Amino acid sequence: MKLQTLSVLLAIAAAHASKINPLHIKRQATSSTATSATVAASSASSSSGTSAVSSSTTGTSTGTATGSTTAVAVPASATWGTSFPPLSQISSGMPSEVTQPVTTTYSPGTSPTYFSGADPLPTAFVFNAADWPAQDKLPDTSSSEVQEWMKELDGWDIPDLSPTVDGTCVSDPTNVANASARGWWTCGGYTRDTDITVCPGKPMTWGTSFDDGPAFYTTKLLHFLNEQNIKATFFDVGSRCIENPSVLIDEYMSGHEIAVHTWSHPHLTTLTTAEIVAELGWTRKAIKTILGVTPTTMRPPYGDIDDRVRAISLAMGMVPIIWTRTPAGVSFDTFDWEIPGGVVTSEASFTQFEAILGNASTLEDGFIVLEHDLYEQTVDMAIGYTLPAALSHNPPFTLEPIGQCNGIPYTNMYVESNLNTSFPIANGTSDGGIDTDGDGTGDAKSKNGTSSATSSSNGAPPRHVSYSIYAAITLATLAAVVGAL
Ligand SMILES: [Zn+2]
Repeated sequence: MKLQTLSVLLAIAAAHASKINPLHIKRQATSSTATSATVAASSASSSSGTSAVSSSTTGTSTGTATGSTTAVAVPASATWGTSFPPLSQISSGMPSEVTQPVTTTYSPGTSPTYFSGADPLPTAFVFNAADWPAQDKLPDTSSSEVQEWMKELDGWDIPDLSPTVDGTCVSDPTNVANASARGWWTCGGYTRDTDITVCPGKPMTWGTSFDDGPAFYTTKLLHFLNEQNIKATFFDVGSRCIENPSVLIDEYMSGHEIAVHTWSHPHLTTLTTAEIVAELGWTRKAIKTILGVTPTTMRPPYGDIDDRVRAISLAMGMVPIIWTRTPAGVSFDTFDWEIPGGVVTSEASFTQFEAILGNASTLEDGFIVLEHDLYEQTVDMAIGYTLPAALSHNPPFTLEPIGQCNGIPYTNMYVESNLNTSFPIANGTSDGGIDTDGDGTGDAKSKNGTSSATSSSNGAPPRHVSYSIYAAITLATLAAVVGAL
């Protein structure tokens, strides 16, 4: 190992020492709040072989009831100064609301005022179909752009893992059996130290985020967030950015963090390396073209990430952010994305969120939840129910963007203003990184510089693994199989 590389890795390990701790249980969970909700899935995919999922036992393994620490009530519209529908009316058949204008129109040349070093907004974006891949389709990997971006992988050891069948567990028993070794989050919740999954050492802090926009109802969410002075992280889809550039600008200029969420929202583990590069690269380019900044973080759709996807993301300068799972394997997914299709009711989704808050109250770290700004229903769930429930919770939760709750300043969320030369990951040799082959030495870049958190040759599970767990896997499978978002 080169000395230079070693020093970089040690510096990174020190800088992120607080983040490599697994989730800790602060106090025993109550039987009523530590359970993950039963999520009715009446139209679950036939391939999943299930019509209803109950994970009612997943959160109870840590202890017996000790009395409720939560007070989660269904918020009332009148309390919040913003009207939203009764919970029961948020459904697949709800009437479409009128969309709202952006909170502010920003002119080219305007700079964000909440952090220094940001370039001013570029010339106003004008969509030209010839400049972009077809929306919501895998981009062509033979383009000159993708070929250029492929060079960013030079010098990086990308694990030689074959693509998964379809990114789900039920279709892929071979890779499920190998999930630990390949660090596959989808099946078993395997993470690496390079993943952001919590707000380290910040209990009762919700690293708030929204996925799949910028979309028609994102502006309604932005108005609410502004009113409540809440900042969040937006995981934006490239295909949405080029059709809603003013909304993307509104997100960014309002003080929210902007991160990459692929071009066409595929299961990334199913793709070739060039396809993954194309998905990330085109989204990065769309955001750069519209905002003038290049994100240093990304979220894989469906949380579908393994060591190959991680290595590619890091080589392209983007740290993966997923969402929290408890040690017992409870995934912090609200399933709000299944309300528009009628798969999950709004009541079931909110019950799931209540369970998430109950679990979150027991953790020594802050937490990250999967929610969406893509649909009217998901925005109404956020502004009417989940956000007010967290804000009015007793004791209250603190809401922060995910970068902020991880100690990453705004400057370092973007390449152009990043002041940390080793963030996301400095390039170097292949030593000291993720150990994907179980030989005890790293073979891809990793912040921690060790293989201690990875699968080992003796078969011991990685430290971050969810030790559960039928139910968590089933929930993840449901999410992966049913979802079309
Ligand atoms: Zn998504």
